Amino acid sequence: MPVRETLRGGARTPLDDEADVLVCGASFAGLAVARELRACGADVLVVDRYEIGERQTSACAAPTAWLVNLGLEEAILQTFDEIVVHTARATVRWPVPYTFSTFDYRVCCEALWAQCGAARFEIAKIEGRGAAGAGPIGVAADRGILRAPLVVDALGWRRVLGRGVQPPEAPLSRGLEVHPSGSGDAMELWIDRAVVPAGYGWSFPAASEVRVGIGSYDPRHHVKQDTLDLVEHTRREPVGYQGNWIPHALRPGTEEGIFFAGDSAGHCIPTSAEGIRTAWYFAIACGRELREVLAGRRDRAEALRRYDAFTAAHAWKFDAMLRLQWLVPRMPPPVLGAIVAASGRQPLGDFLWEHYLRIAPPDFALPAPASAPASAASDPGAAAA
Ligand SMILES: Cc1cc2nc3c(=O)[nH]c(=O)nc-3n(C[C@H](O)[C@H](O)[C@H](O)COP(=O)(O)OP(=O)(O)OC[C@H]3O[C@@H](n4cnc5c(N)ncnc54)[C@H](O)[C@@H]3O)c2cc1C
Repeated sequence: MPVRETLRGGARTPLDDEADVLVCGASFAGLAVARELRACGADVLVVDRYEIGERQTSACAAPTAWLVNLGLEEAILQTFDEIVVHTARATVRWPVPYTFSTFDYRVCCEALWAQCGAARFEIAKIEGRGAAGAGPIGVAADRGILRAPLVVDALGWRRVLGRGVQPPEAPLSRGLEVHPSGSGDAMELWIDRAVVPAGYGWSFPAASEVRVGIGSYDPRHHVKQDTLDLVEHTRREPVGYQGNWIPHALRPGTEEGIFFAGDSAGHCIPTSAEGIRTAWYFAIACGRELREVLAGRRDRAEALRRYDAFTAAHAWKFDAMLRLQWLVPRMPPPVLGAIVAASGRQPLGDFLWEHYLRIAPPDFALPAPASAPASAASDPGAAAA
């Protein structure tokens, strides 16, 4: 078991704090919310149970444009312009009209944090919420009570500040991967029932290591043996395990006065389980709403309503991907193989990839101009049309 960088024993002093904005969770979603608030002069408190960048939560592959637009180039380890897909029948190459990059989680989080201006950071374990009302919302942490009128749950799939969603009944997938040292040229996927009955396997090279794992859409299916089998097949070492649940259905973007962004709101694309850029995307939208409240141009109730509407406007895209997730494991292998092969051919391939990128487009990440007219700056969906 790795020893995580956190506060232990006497260092876990009592914490009784009040801020303008409390961001719970300091991974992709939480840091993107705080980054969006960097220039608004508010007191922003970010809380996580570990140090920033301490616990890698994924294989860390994302469209390169997202990393570049967020100013995270220094985290990029390796870039790919195609994906090699293995099905039961054949291996095909999917050329992608843009690139994906694997990146270093710690460097990424530290670079995001460096863009969060005067935001404060504390290590604490969030345990639940206090009463909601017109005034500050209380949040219970293991070190004390934290209060803020604006609270964001960016705590991942557990949605600690909302109503419980527990596996295996909850709409969650399972993900498990290993990180052996090594190298490779190709980003590879296995969409093959012999590898995992419902889901897919992956091998993502990242400079000096390769991230090999299995995602199962069926939360009851344990993925350890499938992961070990894929690791053996790729002739790698089963070392450096990391796994987690992955939400595959949208959840409400707000609940009882609290904003939810990233996995806590189910902002992870079904079928692909890609949740990093969507965590950034919805967190930016959330941050833009909070900014308007802090500037006095909107009240919290209006911001909650607008953010909910923004999330809901994307529901059809997530629903379509969820239907695909249901369909893929049920397709006869020859049909699946034919569809995978056709998806690699032009112009269909480019068409599909461009639409896939538009679920959370990278141009959303560009910083809002400092003196933007209120109407342009205040529309979280301006770039998402
Ligand atoms: C094995 C695996 C591989 C994946 N690979 C990819 C990939 O390559 N590309 C991709 O786009 N997506 C991938 N995903 C999905 C992706 O990891 C998530 O969608 C993404 O991490 C969501 O970001 P988030 O900020 O919402 O939540 P998280 O990244 O889960 O962050 C939650 C944060 O909250 C903190 N926290 C949690 N509970 C508490 C608490 N009680 N108190 C205080 N702090 C707490 C955690 O320490 C963490 O910092 C993968 C998922 C898995 C499981």
